[in-house]
Amino acid sequence: MTKTALITGITGQDGYYLSHLLLNQGYRVVGLVSPYRQPNLAKLGDLVTKVEVYTVDLRDSEALLTAVEQLRPQEIYNLAAPSFVPDSWKDPLGTLDLITGTATRLLEAVRQTGLSTRFYQASSSEMFGDVSCSPQDEETPFRPKNPYAAAKLHAHWTMVHHRQRYGLFACSGILFNHESPLRSPQFVTRKVSLAAAAIKLGFTDTLEMGNLDAKRDWGFAGDYVEAMWRMLQVDEPEEYAIGTGKLRSVKELVSTAFECVGLDWQKYIVINTKFLRSDEHFQLVANPSKAKKNLGWEPQVSFEELLEKMVKTDMERLQNGMAAPVDASSLGV
Ligand code: NDP
Repeated sequence: MTKTALITGITGQDGYYLSHLLLNQGYRVVGLVSPYRQPNLAKLGDLVTKVEVYTVDLRDSEALLTAVEQLRPQEIYNLAAPSFVPDSWKDPLGTLDLITGTATRLLEAVRQTGLSTRFYQASSSEMFGDVSCSPQDEETPFRPKNPYAAAKLHAHWTMVHHRQRYGLFACSGILFNHESPLRSPQFVTRKVSLAAAAIKLGFTDTLEMGNLDAKRDWGFAGDYVEAMWRMLQVDEPEEYAIGTGKLRSVKELVSTAFECVGLDWQKYIVINTKFLRSDEHFQLVANPSKAKKNLGWEPQVSFEELLEKMVKTDMERLQNGMAAPVDASSLGV
């Protein structure tokens, strides 16, 4: 029997890679998109004719219940979120409603229909927030530091409560930063890959950055959606910390990206204090050993290979006139 997977946030980075994986597994893939957002179906690229997309307001409980009743998905992946963390300060309530509200409404829809749908919630390492120990795993206390992280944590606990009280097969991946050529240029990895390509092609000659010593655990999105899928294939629904377990500095990010185009990064970087963030003293890095043990999951793409993919794609986009050269003044690190 063909399995149906329902994905919110299908037009995002993870939505693309997850759809690709599920289609290859023979799933019928259905995405929900908002009636109030510019349709971004072009972001599905080659998958646009292979997935089904329905317009449903994620804030509408009845509409979500109807969607679940009619589609009868075996699996739901709840990925939709305003994922650029600084934006959550501009609209804390909207962030809460979309992230926490959508998770709650979908879980309630599964409960009310009585289906045995398996549910994945896109949790985030941002929930760890002001960490007091490294690396972080499933037992690390959560101390969220921004509205995005607080909303993700509320959604995470709502998922746990629905599993405990109603016996739903609900789980979450606490995912650390994962990137790809589909990452929005708001994020530092893509800002850097785009700048390296733009400088190589002569579109610009500087890259403005903040703290080069800030560190993150960066992996490849294609690997991380594999972990999401595996979480729904095992017998027990549980939480999993998903990351590479390796910290890399922004300086390493920049030098590796510039190496991909044969440039010495030090000639092009300008430090701009407006890109400094106040919360960079803590270090988020995963201990993914539970995922390795229970799911057999390990990242396959190295940091260097990830940046190679990103820079190569940005070079091609710029050469084909498909991406504007990076405007450092509009991008935060
Ligand atoms: P993206 O920003 O690439 O995608 C977000 C998706 O959510 C897009 O489809 C977007 O639609 C949709 N969305 C945003 N706002 C709304 C809204 N108001 N109504 C309906 N849909 C909306 O994120 P990723 O794919 O990278 O991340 C997937 C999930 O994983 C997110 O929940 C994110 O918070 C979480 N996560 C991501 C991490 C990462 O490093 N990438 C780390 C940890 C967690 P549109 O195309 O219209 O913009």
